Amino acid sequence: MRFPLALTAKIARHIIKHKTLRTPKFALVLQLEPLHTCNLTCTGCGRIREYSTSLKDMMTLEDCLASARECEAPMVSICGGEPLIYPKIEELVAGLLQQGRIVYVCTNGMFMRKKMKDYLASIYTPAMEATLSRLLAENLISTKDAEAIRKGKQDGRPAIKPSKWMYWNVHIDGLEYTHDLIVEREGVFKECVEAVRMAKMLGYQVATNTTVYKETDAKEIEQMFEFFSSLEVDGHTISPGYEYDAAKKDMVKRLNKQPEDFFLTRKMTREKFAKIQEWGERFTIFGTPVYQEFLAGKRELTCTAWAIPTRNIKGWKAPCYLMTDGHYARYQEMLEKVDWNKYGVVNGIARDARCENCMVHCGYDPSGALGTNYQRGDNWKNIKYNFGPKPRPYYEGRKVNAFNGFSVGKGHLAEAKAAINTGVAAGNSQRDELLAKIAAKKEG
Ligand code: SF4
Ligand code: SF4
Repeated sequence: MRFPLALTAKIARHIIKHKTLRTPKFALVLQLEPLHTCNLTCTGCGRIREYSTSLKDMMTLEDCLASARECEAPMVSICGGEPLIYPKIEELVAGLLQQGRIVYVCTNGMFMRKKMKDYLASIYTPAMEATLSRLLAENLISTKDAEAIRKGKQDGRPAIKPSKWMYWNVHIDGLEYTHDLIVEREGVFKECVEAVRMAKMLGYQVATNTTVYKETDAKEIEQMFEFFSSLEVDGHTISPGYEYDAAKKDMVKRLNKQPEDFFLTRKMTREKFAKIQEWGERFTIFGTPVYQEFLAGKRELTCTAWAIPTRNIKGWKAPCYLMTDGHYARYQEMLEKVDWNKYGVVNGIARDARCENCMVHCGYDPSGALGTNYQRGDNWKNIKYNFGPKPRPYYEGRKVNAFNGFSVGKGHLAEAKAAINTGVAAGNSQRDELLAKIAAKKEG
């Protein structure tokens, strides 16, 4: 089966229950942002910028757990900021699992090995020496780490353990050169790969989480899937990125420029995702086949952002993960007070200018699962996809030249930083400038 039966059944039960009760709007996935602090400063990251005044603030553990109970989403994606910085992350994961939720820990991967060493310490017995030897042989832990693990976990707190209900969801936006450029730090890709390898050795479920930008090369994304498939990851989340910028919109109008010069337009998204259905056959891509058809430009969907609500330090963020028109104290209050008919794109017409080019996962993937814009055969497609055989690991992917950046002496960060400090074209964001360097530099 492509996805674990227990997880698929849990989500299906939730949808059927609310359909039977005729609940007009309900949550499928909670995007929980306990904090916005991050150890990285990725170019153009909306979170660390939009919430820059609250980087030191964080939600209490009780608020986090209460938010999940409040919206009753069967899945919770713990994001941020970097959730592994959250001081009570272990308690949060344990608490959500105790509530019976499917938990995704969306991480940039830098602290994953630390958390897994902590887990090993929590369960250490001499019988685990073989595992430690393997990890040492693969350079995934040091001898100093092994000694610390043997001492056992000292702080009396829980650890993040492997569970069929939990995934590490590791942020990877390309192969080494591209990824390190986007996250603005050399060595991050390498660390992520090591964390993924260690997680798989210890029996965790791991997914990758990729955002596709205007400059993203679809061929590279395919190679990235091939490479991570060879590491036996359990799935991939992929979504077009999108940022609305009124200043850029104005440039399009005033200077008669093409929207493509500034935005990842719907047309461009469809071109980049032209092979998404083929990828869905070859790799375990999370998301419904209906959403995949939408991304590939084969059908329209309407936005159901209320089904993937975001809860952060300020409250329930409306209308969606990307746009902030307000924060509400309660999920139900947000559902009732927001005029949802103001958002999204219907029959090619944007109800809100900011939604015009949006095809993001958090707005449209639930539409596929919930049967909004239902077409005959959709249910069957979803069932066939979920219950179909899981794609086998693609071991040929080991041959992909994944370490094409700083690992082979093609460090680029100083150069890229210099690039953004000079000659930033009017109207172009730092991300545009930085990513525009990717294609040229990769060839160099
Ligand atoms: S890792 Fe995530 S939260 Fe941190 S800066 Fe990058 S995109 Fe933002
Ligand atoms: S289409 Fe939906 S998800 Fe996209 S920006 Fe608009 S409200 Fe948000």
